Amino acid sequence: MRLKLKTVFVLYFMVSLFGLIYALMQLGQRCDCTEHDMSRDRIISRLRGELHSLREQMNKPELTKPPKASLPTIYIITPTYARLVQKAELTRLSQTFLHVPQLHWILVEDSPEKTALVGEFLKHSGLTYTHLNVATPRERKLQEGDPSWLKPRGAEQRNEGLRWLRESSRGQQGARPDHGVVYFADDDNTYSVQLFEEMRGTQMVSVWPVGLVGGMRFERPVVEGGRVVRFHTGWRPSRPFPLDMAGFAVSLRLVLANPESRFDGDAPMGFLESSFLQGLVTMEELEPKADMCTKVLVWHTRTEKPKMKREEALQKQGLGSDPAVEV
Ligand code: UDP
Ligand code: MN
Repeated sequence: MRLKLKTVFVLYFMVSLFGLIYALMQLGQRCDCTEHDMSRDRIISRLRGELHSLREQMNKPELTKPPKASLPTIYIITPTYARLVQKAELTRLSQTFLHVPQLHWILVEDSPEKTALVGEFLKHSGLTYTHLNVATPRERKLQEGDPSWLKPRGAEQRNEGLRWLRESSRGQQGARPDHGVVYFADDDNTYSVQLFEEMRGTQMVSVWPVGLVGGMRFERPVVEGGRVVRFHTGWRPSRPFPLDMAGFAVSLRLVLANPESRFDGDAPMGFLESSFLQGLVTMEELEPKADMCTKVLVWHTRTEKPKMKREEALQKQGLGSDPAVEV
């Protein structure tokens, strides 16, 4: 009996050991995976197809179909123009927007034609968008060497975005086209995702502080008893609305109810925002957001123009960076 038990134990040990050795040897072996690869390829291409059709659905103008959820849509109008840092700016901006639900990006190129760079960029952005373009007339455009404050930038493009919103809302009564918010977001600023939830409930015009603007740490509306009573700004506080473009949002209903309101491209320095807001609200009606205008959730950052000294030197020798690579 003792002997038998020992034999059983030894046999059990041997079988386990051989099993383990066999399994270890299989680990390093190549398998005949062609069948696996084929079915994997099929799954990948099916998923790609589904992704493509989902993207196409997402990219149809939002106003032509009823909003998916009850969340008001945030329509973001962004003027943009071709320059070395453009794709970097748009990448940063779009990847912030990807964190925001129910957002529709209206990107307006300052250009006589839509460019392939921006068109392709939007196609792969994963965002719901509308791609528009309008060129700033020559006499209104900043020339090389002009100080940046000389003329307003992006006025025509913002007006083109407004035109599109008004036009697309025509004949859309059933789709509640006025259930939304309009915000003007320049392509170089920095936006906290929290800002978009602050503005989503805008009834008429909501306002909040903007950091790093107007030669100040921040500018903001000053709130007393829940109402805006004046503005904290370093320059001409007597302007009708001494607010930066990044510091307010307007309800779509108000935009549609005032078809004539637009940005005046000839407005004197610092008066572009006022030219649009003047006909829409009074200071008393402004809705303070961001904890009664005590939190900075957007920064008027500006991107340094990259120096191309070495690139130009190499180009002279025919050794410049490959122009086929998009930057
Ligand atoms: N912009 C434009 N065309 C121009 C210059 C600027 O469409 O010729 C856009 C720019 O991409 C940005 C907005 O207008 O979204 C404001 O321009 P910028 O950031 O240069 O203005 P600043 O920050 O100096 O006020
Ligand atoms: Mn800027």
